Order: sequence, then C-alpha cells, then structure tokens
Amino acid sequence: MQYFAYVLLATLGLFVLITLIRAAFFRPKREGFAPLPEESVDVERAAARLSGAIQIPTISYPNEEDVDWAQFERFRAYLRESYPLIHKQLVCEVVAGASLLYCWKGSDPSLEPIALLSHQDVVPVSGGTEGDWTHPPFSGFNDGTFIWGRGAMDMKNHLICVMEAVETLLAEGFAPVRDVYLCFGHDEEVVGAEDSGAFRLRKALEARGVKRLASTLDEGGAMLPLHVKGIIENSVLAGIGISEKGYVDFEITINRKGGHSAQPPAHTALGELAQVIRDLERRQFKAELLPFMLHLLSEGGRRLPYALRLLSCNLPLLRPLLKAVLKKIPAAASMIRTTTAVTMASGSPAANVLPQKASAVVNFRIMPGTTVKDVEAHIRKVVRNKDIVLKVLKQKEASPFSGMRSSSFEAIRRLVLAQQPEAIVAPYLVMGGTDSYFYEPICAHCYRFSPFLAELSLLFCTHATNERVPVETLGGAVTFFKRYIRLASQPD
Ligand SMILES: [Zn+2]
Repeated sequence: MQYFAYVLLATLGLFVLITLIRAAFFRPKREGFAPLPEESVDVERAAARLSGAIQIPTISYPNEEDVDWAQFERFRAYLRESYPLIHKQLVCEVVAGASLLYCWKGSDPSLEPIALLSHQDVVPVSGGTEGDWTHPPFSGFNDGTFIWGRGAMDMKNHLICVMEAVETLLAEGFAPVRDVYLCFGHDEEVVGAEDSGAFRLRKALEARGVKRLASTLDEGGAMLPLHVKGIIENSVLAGIGISEKGYVDFEITINRKGGHSAQPPAHTALGELAQVIRDLERRQFKAELLPFMLHLLSEGGRRLPYALRLLSCNLPLLRPLLKAVLKKIPAAASMIRTTTAVTMASGSPAANVLPQKASAVVNFRIMPGTTVKDVEAHIRKVVRNKDIVLKVLKQKEASPFSGMRSSSFEAIRRLVLAQQPEAIVAPYLVMGGTDSYFYEPICAHCYRFSPFLAELSLLFCTHATNERVPVETLGGAVTFFKRYIRLASQPD
C-alpha cells in the first residue's frame, strides 16, 4: 500500500516538475520571417476615396424593387473615375445586374487564381435614428480621426483599400503570376439571398473556365487590441475566419382541438409548447473544443504570465474545465456549440379562444460538422412531446473548415505579424454569413479577415449608429492588401 502511495507521489511530483518547466517554455513561437520591404501608400487618397464611396448610398433590401439601382451605377462610375489604371488594365464586367468582377491576368494561366472578395452594398439606417449620428450616415465626413458613415467598417473600407492596393501595384508595374480576381457582390447584406450576387459571381468564374481558386480573402475576422491588466498587455488578437456557422430556423408546432377558454384542458397547445421550449433550452447541444479553438486558446495561453501558463500549457488536460467555463459566456459558448435561441411564438388569436395551433420559431446557429438534419434529430431527441410538427423556414449549412496550412493562411499570418509583432494570430469561427460561403464549392481556402485594427466599441457600430473607421488604419490596410497580393499571387 505504502509502495503505491510513493509511486503516486513521485508521479505527481514529476508532473508538477514537468509543468513548471513546460510553462517556462510555453511562450509565443519566434517567427523567422524575413522583414518585408516598405510599401508606398497614398493614405490621403485612400481616405478621400473612402469618403466619396460612403456618400453613395448603395443600400440593399430583401425586396429588389426597393433597391435604388442608380446608386449602384453611380458607385461603378465612381470606381471607374477613381481607379483609371485598374479600369484600363483589368477586365471588368458587371454580373447579375450590379455585382462587379475584375480579372487581372497573371503570367501563368496553369495556376489556380486567387480572389479578393468584398461587397458594395450596405445596410439601411434604421428609421428615426438618423439624428443620433454625430455626422450624417452618408456624409463620409472625415474629421481627421475617423471617417464616418454607413459602410465605413462594413465594408467599403475593405473594398476601397483593395482597390487602392491594386491601383498602386499597377502603377509600380507589378505583375501577378496567378490570375487575381476582385469579386464585389451587391447584396451580401440581404440575408438568405440564394441567387445572390456572390453566387452569380462564382457561376461567372466557372463559366470562364475557373475550376478551382487557390484562395479567397473576404471580411470576417478583424484585429482587436487586447489589454487585460496584468494578464495580456498591449497585444492584438487577429482572428482569421476559417469557417462560418450554419443557420436554420425551425418552426415547431403543436396542433390541438381548441374550443372555448372557459373549459380548458390541463394544458393548452401553448402550454404544451412552453414545455417544448423548456426541453430545448435545458438540453443544449453538446459543446466541443474543435482543433481551431484549441489553437486559438493555445496561442492566447502562450502570452499569459507565468503563473497562468502553469494552467494554459496543459490545455488538453483542462478540456472539461474549459468547456464548463466557456459555456457560461454566451460569446464564447457560440464558438463551441450549436446554439439554440427561441425567438418567436404564437398561440390563439384571441384571449378567450383556446389555441388550435401553437408554434414557436427556434433559431439554431450550427457548428461546422453538424448539419440541418442533425439539428432536426436533436430536436426530436430532446423534446419529450412527440406530437410536435417541424418545418424548416430558412436554412444554410455550416461551412467546412479551410485549412491552416495553405500558403494564403501563412501569408495572412505573416503580414499581420509584420505590422503587429505582438499579435495573436489565430483561426476563428465566423458567426454570421459572408459572401465567401458561395465560393466554397470551388475553393478549399476561404479566409475571412479584414486588416483593420479596431476596438470592440467600433466593431459594435457596424450596422448601428455612428459607424466609422479610424483614418490611421487605412495605410496599414492598403499595405496589407498590397503585400497579400504579392505573396498569394505567387506560385507556392
Ligand atoms: Zn459585410
């Protein structure tokens, strides 16, 4: 017995010793990247062009008749005027009425092309909130610190900086080896547009003989300053979106006889539905720490002070604890499981009528690897009431994961570190939908990343009041895109 106690104690001692040593070496990996040459960037021009772009209200609406197509025409003309070299040297065509496809021919047509994606459209300003803006939403006002207006962050900033990068590269005589496509959709903000501009852009690429793209780069992740006193200081979190969650709205209905409310049964259809909702909220999807999440946590864990690294260097052992903690934080929980949100419900049309039909709409955001069919199976498993009738209202399957070993991912990582040596560059799961989704059938490397350094409070202004972008981030973004095109358009 005593012998076993000794062995146990010795093993424990050894584990502690190994952990003490491992934590000391659990530091950010030193990257041996050669420094990149400086890029010339005309920040003033970029800022002026972005201001002008914001002044053209290219608003998309679910109903096409509501769209002011003349604004998209104006936007096209504006790009033509602003970027003469692009319009002289690249082939530009309009697809699906208002989407734009630019082709920059590379020197080796046998190589797979790359594509830089963006969308021209913006969301409307909520009626009655126009007056809440510090500067009007379509003013594109530049106060020296910020450029204000709808699309400043989502994503005319990105589109204009891509154009600035290409225009400057052309002026410098740069010639890509791979073909480079610029694909600017016109209805990204219209959720659920199946026959969307992006879809038709992909079809246009296929019609031109593009079987596969080497990579795409689109909005999604961003660069977020990280500063938690005593824990992580003066760092930046650069999340590169490598997948996006799926989406399904299920309508769940219970049908009952109805009748007068003066003689009710123990549970009305609505009462039963309440039980269904309770089952769904209590028995959530299983949380799982997928490799991308472990990678992200590990990259963050390496930046922690020594005392905390004693824990973070043993991440795989802490999985159960980590899951339990992350599940408690809604933003983190959404990264580790399919989420369940009961959003709408209806019962009888009058107070004194028993409902013949009670239904609830439940919105699920689906983890990659799980399908809409799996969600249905989950509902049927956890809901005890077997009389439920299910109907899918809207759906989109989750994206596959784009690999982290491609040269494009490596290029993004390298470029972020070139600008922000302290950055934590890690893969990330995009919650909303992007145009990238439509390119997945022809591309295994769809990355979602906007190289703009912005505080969380600025990101929250996207789609909201006072959307604005810091002027000082524009130079870095144009540099990023110039370098990205240089690197990603080369053969591997
Ligand atoms: Zn967007």
